[in-house]
Amino acid sequence: MTDLIERIAQQRAKKLFKAEHANVQPYSGSVANLAAYSALIKPGDTIMGMSLTDGGHLTHGWNVSLTSRFFKSMPYTVDPKTGRLDFNLIEDLAKKHHPKIIISGATAYPREIDFEIFGQIAKKVGAFHVSDIAHIAGLVVAGIHKSPIPYADIVSTTTHKTLRGARGGMLLCKKEHAGKVDKAVFPGLQGGPHMQTITAIAVALAEADTPEFVAYAKQIVKNSKALAKKLLEHGFNLVTGGTDNHLILIDLRNKNVPGKKLAKALDRARIETNYNTIPADPAPPANPSGLRIGTPAITTRGMKEKECEMIAGFINKVVENIDNESAIEEVGKEVLLLCSQFPVPEHFIIPGKNNILSEE
Ligand SMILES: *Cc1c(COP(=O)(O)O)cnc(C)c1O
Repeated sequence: MTDLIERIAQQRAKKLFKAEHANVQPYSGSVANLAAYSALIKPGDTIMGMSLTDGGHLTHGWNVSLTSRFFKSMPYTVDPKTGRLDFNLIEDLAKKHHPKIIISGATAYPREIDFEIFGQIAKKVGAFHVSDIAHIAGLVVAGIHKSPIPYADIVSTTTHKTLRGARGGMLLCKKEHAGKVDKAVFPGLQGGPHMQTITAIAVALAEADTPEFVAYAKQIVKNSKALAKKLLEHGFNLVTGGTDNHLILIDLRNKNVPGKKLAKALDRARIETNYNTIPADPAPPANPSGLRIGTPAITTRGMKEKECEMIAGFINKVVENIDNESAIEEVGKEVLLLCSQFPVPEHFIIPGKNNILSEE
């Protein structure tokens, strides 16, 4: 039975992402990344991923991550002026440092990523291309963002961000890397498969293969664009000036409120965000100048553009009253009222599409 469930999860992942091979066992995105690197290169080899402070993930070789102790890490940054990826810089760095792996993908980057160019640069310097789509997997399967599958040796993802499944990880790759990827996951890094997670992933993958999911993913982006537009009208500076995906990164320097202080005030007003570095942040990562906001959760609750405009107003009100606790409490009441009109759905299962035991 467990083999059957795992096979179904693999089949669904392969179909949805148009991949030749899928491994659905990684316990999480971090482990999936380590497995991807160890499938392709040796300890001590050089990896090149996006710097954490510019939007990359810890496991792309940031200095406190084991990935920078097992491998030599030569990160790239974004253009500090535009906040966008600078492919000339990435190519120059790749030619200089000869990485064995170039990692594309990010954790706090509000624009679409051109995976084809990453693939071309990797080919030019003889590197493997590992693409980490943890954040945008749901946008990729919905066809909103281009898939890295044709341009990457291995694609890594989590299953719990825009893909909206249980917490877990997956690796997708070409047939030629299948054996190495499977061995890197087990016995390389992990023991037995977490079948409860794999079962839940199989369900999430079936849900993601529906028109309802595509509509959800499209609304995520519409919502973040509406939220971004209204924030700009309130005088907020956004890194890159806007968004193509599910997230917004606010540069708070003109508002004179540190990211951490604002995130904590918003939390008291029942708005969940996280304080985050901005590209070339003059402040330290523990108390950075930015705030990161995502729209998937409110979209799941059924909120649309109109509610996003209200949320931008709430955020603005908290910023303008950052030292006024009763004003923050007032915002909290308005947030509660809004949320009560959009309860968390009990389930998303689509009739006829959720039979975990039917092979496709
Ligand atoms: C979240 C994330 C991960 C790691 O996910 P975990 O499941 O928390 O280990 C890896 N890469 C990127 C780009 C992420 O955003």
